[in-house]
Parts: sequence; structure tokens; C-alpha cells
Amino acid sequence: MPLPYRHLTSVLLRREGDLFLFDGGEGTQVSLRKLNLRWKKINAIFVSHTHADHVTGLPGLLMLSSQVDRNEPLYIYGPPKISEYIESSRRVLDMYINYEIIVTEIREPGIIYRGEGFHVRAFPLQHTKTCVGYTLEEDERPGAFNPEKAREYKVPCGPLWSQLQAGEEVLSETGQTVTPSQVLGPPRKGRKFSYVTDTRYLSSIAKEVENSDLLICEGMFERELEETAAEKKHMTSTQAARVALDGKVKKMGLIHYSPRYTDNELKVLLSQAREVFPDTVLTRDRMVFPIEYEE
Ligand SMILES: [Zn+2]
Ligand SMILES: [Zn+2]
Repeated sequence: MPLPYRHLTSVLLRREGDLFLFDGGEGTQVSLRKLNLRWKKINAIFVSHTHADHVTGLPGLLMLSSQVDRNEPLYIYGPPKISEYIESSRRVLDMYINYEIIVTEIREPGIIYRGEGFHVRAFPLQHTKTCVGYTLEEDERPGAFNPEKAREYKVPCGPLWSQLQAGEEVLSETGQTVTPSQVLGPPRKGRKFSYVTDTRYLSSIAKEVENSDLLICEGMFERELEETAAEKKHMTSTQAARVALDGKVKKMGLIHYSPRYTDNELKVLLSQAREVFPDTVLTRDRMVFPIEYEE
């Protein structure tokens, strides 16, 4: 449930001006407004499952998005029932929507969305109803340009360098063909973001989120409540840390805390997780995580 200083679950990812929302619990629009972003142009929304605490913020968000001109459709992805939820909300609430909404129900794991230079993949979780996790992964980037090498091959500084960087062959001053691979380093890894909630602990999750730069993962309970967590198909923060460790992720942000913990008591979840995976943080409303490129 939302608490005075703790909103329900939602994560906004911004990449090169595009915005992607993962879940939209009650009040998400309030938090988005506070961020002062051009958030009304969210490109796509990825829903983990249709439990109220993850989707009741969507109708308001969709209506607010009507207050700006948008020509591009809004894409919504989620497990079965997401179409019914969006359609019935539109119908019953008489929602005025002046743009196209394209809802896709995810029937099997795999790549569900492709953008320029990246894709989003869905994978199965195990909860009290069908639930999916997501990763957004960038393609490899070309290797770093080596100016010394370019000079060595007698390619003068200028537009020819840009052509090489763009992957094109050029002619040197002496008339030799110079290929990009001669002047570029090895391809560089793209960034990876993963989002996992609500689920019981599964060893398969680590593989899905492997090598993420940032993993946002539920850590609903303390270690002592592992049985309760399993019954309710949720994870302890220790189990989340296990996922992060086994998946060799760089950083993990815990999310989706049980309302039984006051803000101060969340420290327990953090310290237990850090015993297993030190690069853990407790996420808070509107906390921002920059995800840097690995050079
Ligand atoms: Zn749930
Ligand atoms: Zn939930």
C-alpha cells in the first residue's frame, strides 16, 4: 500500500531522450510530475503483472498524456489481462485519449520490443498470478577510435575519421584502403538494465539479469520471514542479493518493500542484502541512478 513517504512500485528509465516506464502503481503521475521531465511522452510501458499495486496509476497517466500533442502511439506490454484492464478502464472511466495506444500481451518469453540500438526482453517470474521480468539491453557499440593508428595509416584528421568511426572504409593519402577494424578498438559492451518484481526466488532469474549494470529487484522481507515470502510468492532482500551476486550485476536497487517496515526499519533489509551483495542500495521515491558506459 502507498505510505505517506513511500509511493508504490514504478521505475522510469530514460535513454537518449526516450522514456520507458516499468509498472505504474497508484500515484505514479504525482512522482513523475515532481521529476520535472517531459514525461508525458513515455514511449512504452512495461507491466510486470496486473496486481493493483502495479497498475492502478496507469489510467491517470494515460489521461494526462492526452494533454500534450503526440503523434506516436504509446505501447503497453504485459501479461494476459493487461488488454482487458486498459480497455475496461478506458470504457468505464470515459477516458478521453487523443493518441493511439497499442497493447500487447506477452505470451512467451523473448524479445518484445526493439528500438534503435537496443531491445527489451521479457522472462517468466513466479507469483500468485502470471508475472514477467524485463531487461533492456543495448547493442554493442563500435570500438574506441585510435587517432595514432589513423595517422600511421596516413588518414588525415577530418571527415575521413568520422567515416571510419561510422564503420566505412576510406582511402589514405597514399591511396591505400583503410578499414574501420584497423583503427578501432574491440567492440564495446552496451548497457543493461533489469527489472524484477513480484516473484518467489528462482535460480533462473540470475541468468536472465546476468551482467546488468543496474538491477532493480524486489526485496520485500527480511531473512527471518523467508517462509512468509515463499508463501506469498515474494522475495527476501537476501534472496534478491543472491540473484545479484549469481548474476554478476554491477549494482542492485531494492524495491517493493513490505508496508510492515517503516522507512527507518528498511535498514534491516539493506544490511542483510549487503552481507551477500555489497553493492546494494535501498531505492527511495525519485532516486536517480545514472548508468554509465563501460569504457
Ligand atoms: Zn503482485
Ligand atoms: Zn506487488
